[in-house]
Amino acid sequence: MSRLILAARRLLDAVLPPRCVVCGEPGDAPDALCAACFTRLPWNHTPCGVCALPLCDDSGPCRCTRRRHAVIDRVLAPLRYEFPVTSLVPRLKFHGDLAAGRALTQLLDLALRDEPRPDALVPVPLHSRRLASRGYDQALELARPLARALDIPLRTDLLRRTRDTRPQTELRARSRRRNLQDAFRAVGVVPGHVALLDDVMTTGNTLNECAVALREAGADRVEAWVVARASA
Ligand SMILES: [Zn+2]
Ligand SMILES: [Zn+2]
Repeated sequence: MSRLILAARRLLDAVLPPRCVVCGEPGDAPDALCAACFTRLPWNHTPCGVCALPLCDDSGPCRCTRRRHAVIDRVLAPLRYEFPVTSLVPRLKFHGDLAAGRALTQLLDLALRDEPRPDALVPVPLHSRRLASRGYDQALELARPLARALDIPLRTDLLRRTRDTRPQTELRARSRRRNLQDAFRAVGVVPGHVALLDDVMTTGNTLNECAVALREAGADRVEAWVVARASA
């Protein structure tokens, strides 16, 4: 996605009348969902209280609590990774659709505004090479307005991606962890309570590796905030 196309998109977004980012019907607010699409959102009503995996009922945490050495204290994922989130996230991630990103940030803001504020919001970093080819960083596009809305310090300086890893989706489960080992490094003085921010959590390997780096650098509480949780 070239910078020129992104700039053109921004311009079009600014001059066109507001439309629902899911169905395209005229809406009341820019970069938002219409009332009908909003009510059909796949809210994660009964998440595991630890890893946010969507469960059938709220009978307690899932098997994740049996794993030792958990590095993420709690995952917050307001939505399940189902339609229309499965459309909005790739639109932001691969097609530079910043209106989809703004809609997702609004949903995060709405769902997380009563949560205790962390000392820092840290978007999962993209490697500089991928940032250069894509032109923008989807986690940062979500984190920047969210940090502003919730009045949390945005800290893009605390975590660096030191290796340009292969996309996790291209790898089998066993290779995924190895692919990410030592891929992230914490920089500087890390505050006590940190919330990592990413678009979707599937296996959680990427977020775990980020949490390991932050803990080694001094964080004593690490949460993961994501738009949506996938089941597998
Ligand atoms: Zn709609
Ligand atoms: Zn769980």
